[in-house]
Amino acid sequence: ARKKLVAGNWKLHHDRAASVELAKAIAAGLPSSQVEVVIAPVFTSLDVVRGAIAGTSIGLSAQDLHWDDSGAFTGEVSAPLLKDVGCTHVIIGHSERRQLFGETDDRVSKKLGAALKHGLVPIVCVGETLEEREAGRTLEVVLGQIDAALAGITKDALAGIVIAYEPVWAIGTGKVAKSSDAQEVQAAIRKRMSERIDAGAAQKTRILYGGSVKPDNAAELMAQPDVDGALVGGASLKAASFLAIVKGA
Ligand code: 13P
Repeated sequence: ARKKLVAGNWKLHHDRAASVELAKAIAAGLPSSQVEVVIAPVFTSLDVVRGAIAGTSIGLSAQDLHWDDSGAFTGEVSAPLLKDVGCTHVIIGHSERRQLFGETDDRVSKKLGAALKHGLVPIVCVGETLEEREAGRTLEVVLGQIDAALAGITKDALAGIVIAYEPVWAIGTGKVAKSSDAQEVQAAIRKRMSERIDAGAAQKTRILYGGSVKPDNAAELMAQPDVDGALVGGASLKAASFLAIVKGA
């Protein structure tokens, strides 16, 4: 069975002091369960949060990275530097980056390669917009993003990556996907990875659901056979709600 993973994406929230406070509260309340927990603070809080969670099982994630190791890339942060600050994971291709900051499928694929090369666990985000869903194009869009992101990935690498299915219309809206809809898309993602890359490895890949995950809907979503955890935005900003979601996994 795949180990459940609950990740908190803090987005652009919290200065260093607030980040440390939240990280410590999460660490203090962590149930002794078999759930893997990861938090993703802003870049400037990574160093202090690493200190706050030292000695715990909590993973540390960045929210983006650049694909080159170093060079004339003003404003970017690379995989070796994320390793240097203590990151274990990195979110790639979040819909906010795709919609607001020009992230393309091609860049997502290059970033995935950089993360894998440097031993960071990538959390690769895919998801359709409301317009695409209403046009009946959900699977076409999501599987297209999967194909593009995973182009060239080996079966050994596939088993260790994490996919997050985040329907854009569910992010920050309070409109959570029906658990049956999340299951349908996530089963289709696993089938696609089985067919295009490797069936055995695809059985090991964790596929998270994200988009308005809250304590009162988390357990039902994560009870679906292909929902291996959650990528949580708003509800990850308070220790109580994040921990309640972890306990529901
Ligand atoms: P919300 O949980 O706030 O809807 O955000 C989801 C998300 O984008 C996590 O990456």
